Amino acid sequence: MNTASLSLDLDNLWSYMKTHGDAGWERYPSYLDRMVPLALRCLEERDLQITFFIVGLDASLAQNHQALRSIVEAGHEVGNHSFHHEPWLHLYDDSRLEDELSRAENAIVTATGVRPDGFRGPGFSLSETTLRVLARRGYRYDASTFPTYLGPLARAYYFWTAKLDAEEKKRRAKLFGSVKDGLRPLKPYRWELGERRMLEIPVTTMPVSKAPFHVSYLLFLSMRSHLAACAYFRLALGMCRLTGVQPSLLLHPLDFLGGDDCPELAFFPAMGVDGEAKRRWTGDYLDIYRKAFHVVPMGKHADLLADASLPLRKPDFPREDETATPPTEPAPQT
Ligand SMILES: [Zn+2]
Repeated sequence: MNTASLSLDLDNLWSYMKTHGDAGWERYPSYLDRMVPLALRCLEERDLQITFFIVGLDASLAQNHQALRSIVEAGHEVGNHSFHHEPWLHLYDDSRLEDELSRAENAIVTATGVRPDGFRGPGFSLSETTLRVLARRGYRYDASTFPTYLGPLARAYYFWTAKLDAEEKKRRAKLFGSVKDGLRPLKPYRWELGERRMLEIPVTTMPVSKAPFHVSYLLFLSMRSHLAACAYFRLALGMCRLTGVQPSLLLHPLDFLGGDDCPELAFFPAMGVDGEAKRRWTGDYLDIYRKAFHVVPMGKHADLLADASLPLRKPDFPREDETATPPTEPAPQT
């Protein structure tokens, strides 16, 4: 059976509040002790092992240690999702990135006993410098690219709902990527970094159209029609099979938490649904996924690609002065 991978970006309550500009995030409110057991149960019922990309700051707080340890005790992998979870990580220079990544690694080792060797940037932020630092630190793969044309639309929605001043918006200018990201490949490749290489496993989008099909997006569709959302997901996986793409599917904490579990995040599109219904829908997608593919964690996926002859790609990130300026005025609420 064809290989596919599955991962979860363990964004915590505070990081959503911080990105959104909500007060109170500085106290680092956490839902990991509520959310992690729900996710683990859903995965265990389906005999799935995945990669949890952990935010270093959460791993540095004792209040989260039990939840984080339960992830590795259940046999899952852990990856590095940065220390501060700032979606403008692509603006960091070399030494700041070294510090950011090593702090996250150390905290994750302290919390879980495992040193991560895979990375996903917060908000899919990535730069050539990040790739070079990852290669130097011995990482085996990066999973920060999200080839879709819909990034600018997602950003427009976010700016419309977030409470941010002009300076904060400027820093978030590349959030969710640019239209150019849609041109990136869906199949794994290797970044060419002088003497070094870095394996890239993109978050998969629909072949040809590059429409997203990560689980949060599917949930958004299920709010209209769950049958249609499942049909769309089957179509996406069928397209992957047809075009020889080994998919890598992305989960988020809010795929397991409903508005009743986390009223603080009511501004998110799919928080109008209660937790139980949401977990049932997410379980349905995971059933479809594991029936169609042999599902493995990201590190296993990287192992299977280690000897493959993959295309090389030169880093193609826009320079700072090419970054589009975000809108300064939010669209009027209707
Ligand atoms: Zn994240």
